Amino acid sequence: MEKIFPFVSPKEHYTADVTVVWCFDARFRPLFNAYLQSRGFAENRIDEIKCAGGARALAVGSPDRDPILEQVKKSVLLHNPQTVILMDHIDCGYTGGSKAFEGREHEIDDHRRTLQESIKTVREAIPGVTIEAIFADFEGVHLL
Ligand SMILES: [Zn+2]
Repeated sequence: MEKIFPFVSPKEHYTADVTVVWCFDARFRPLFNAYLQSRGFAENRIDEIKCAGGARALAVGSPDRDPILEQVKKSVLLHNPQTVILMDHIDCGYTGGSKAFEGREHEIDDHRRTLQESIKTVREAIPGVTIEAIFADFEGVHLL
């Protein structure tokens, strides 16, 4: 075995502050970091589940629903967060981006519907955990 990058990582197991389901769209990576830091979550206590579509992957009809839900369940089982944050964002390529909708309001209405479905999916699978659903656009984070 050849070490190609020396770095010391903590060996201790941890309890997560939060589990986050977030789209891997890198345009929102700085927002991901800034928002979670603003919430006071410790950087090394965040279970990140990044996948195409973020919370949208947990909505009804998503082909990724079961595997992503399994990841959320494993995070909660292993690291016992009190909170799960489900994120959805504007212009998400998972559903064809903003151009797939007839205007911003239509797009936001669709996100509102799928976030509710995603909340229901997680609530039914993992009772007792607090679920927050947020919507991100190019100006910040919103509740829908
Ligand atoms: Zn996306």
